[in-house]
Amino acid sequence: ASNIEELEKLTNLSDGLLRLARLENGKLPLTELKISQIIDEAVGRVSGQAEQKNILLNTAISKDTEIMGDKSSLVELMVILLDNAIKYSDKKTEISIKATTDKKTVTISVKDKGKGIAPADLPHVFERFYRADSSRTKQQINGYGLGLAIAENITKLHNGTITVQSSQNKGTTFKVTIPAKA
Ligand code: ATP
Ligand code: MG
Repeated sequence: ASNIEELEKLTNLSDGLLRLARLENGKLPLTELKISQIIDEAVGRVSGQAEQKNILLNTAISKDTEIMGDKSSLVELMVILLDNAIKYSDKKTEISIKATTDKKTVTISVKDKGKGIAPADLPHVFERFYRADSSRTKQQINGYGLGLAIAENITKLHNGTITVQSSQNKGTTFKVTIPAKA
């Protein structure tokens, strides 16, 4: 059983590296999408994982704006943020996913009430293979530190920006802003 687990980890690692390499090379085929399509699919993918920790996922979409994007990559981006929010939160907490629209942009935020990120780690979380000390040691949470590097690449390929705000033991908010469809 533990061999299978190790194998799964290595498969995840090589998948992640391949994904990064492809994203760094390329362009994505952009199509018209509504943000609800992305959020609903991503929430569906992590709902089992959230249930296991009794974590509630709240979604609020103020306006179902259209964007130009690559659906599977944007779903992947949301899954990366939600997976982290779940992994680094305690049981029976809440995660809120909000989408707001400005004149020309859409912002999707993922806010958790988890352990937070230390100020010293914060500038580095988008670097590949970077994992804050506490996630490597204390509770042995699985991962290679590739998720946010992939998330940042996907955001950039959509001409967007990704930012993080965090306070230790209170929670973390990631915000992705991308242009709305012209
Ligand atoms: P992987 O995503 O490759 O499985 P990972 O989750 O460790 O591994 P990233 O998603 O890139 O890697 O995140 C990098 C680090 O940032 C994490 O190891 C963790 O220390 C910190 N981090 C990311 N999201 C959160 C969050 N929501 N709350 C607290 N810490 C976070
Ligand atoms: Mg991750």
